[in-house]
Amino acid sequence: MLNEIELERYSRHLKLNNFNEESQLILKNSKVLVIGAGGLGSPCLMYLASSGIGTIGILDFDTVSLSNLQRQIIHTEQNIGKPKAQSAKQLLEQINSNITINTYNGSILEEEYQDLINQYDIIALCVDDLPTRYKINELCLKYKKVHVSSAVVGYSGFITTFNPRLENSPCYECLQPKTTNNAIKKAADIGVFAPLVGILGVWQSAEIIKELLNLGKSLSGNLKTISILDNSIENIKLNKRDNCPACTAKH
Ligand SMILES: [Zn+2]
Repeated sequence: MLNEIELERYSRHLKLNNFNEESQLILKNSKVLVIGAGGLGSPCLMYLASSGIGTIGILDFDTVSLSNLQRQIIHTEQNIGKPKAQSAKQLLEQINSNITINTYNGSILEEEYQDLINQYDIIALCVDDLPTRYKINELCLKYKKVHVSSAVVGYSGFITTFNPRLENSPCYECLQPKTTNNAIKKAADIGVFAPLVGILGVWQSAEIIKELLNLGKSLSGNLKTISILDNSIENIKLNKRDNCPACTAKH
């Protein structure tokens, strides 16, 4: 049961169709790991916290710098130089003091943090480098965890969900084979339109909550691409690649 304060705090959720006290309790008992407390991670974390996710893990190896503040809205000028995970936690505690926030100052590429994927129910991938993306994909396949993935470069971005629990579900490496690494444009070189990471980070939080509650349609098997300059959103059907080295051997 939710207590009186929780009933008031989440009253606008509880008024929704297909959303009741049980739904809110599921969120309260859920554990979400957000990898990357940057542009995508900032709004994603803020909505997960305000929506009442009971346990949030934040994994980030970096510290806050001045050039982050243009789009990484969870961090403030006062926290320049501090670890991003702690900086993010500081703001989230002000949004919702009734949830548990675990911070990890490290990278999923380091072995000691890899078991974290297994300790959480669902993963938000909010990083921009390929080695980290491949590693998260590999670990989510290993532990059969859903991960909601997004990326932004310039004025364009995408979002999708990978669900290894579904038969014939594509994985990240089906979408982005390792051999094409060199063709990937890097956000650090091209630039990032700040509000677009906001849009996609918030969208990731929505998909995570939907997955936890089995609410509406999943993005699994569908990649949404956004071009903010011409206001276009397109859907690309994703299929499992027959010879994908990441997911084929495991099924
Ligand atoms: Zn695959």
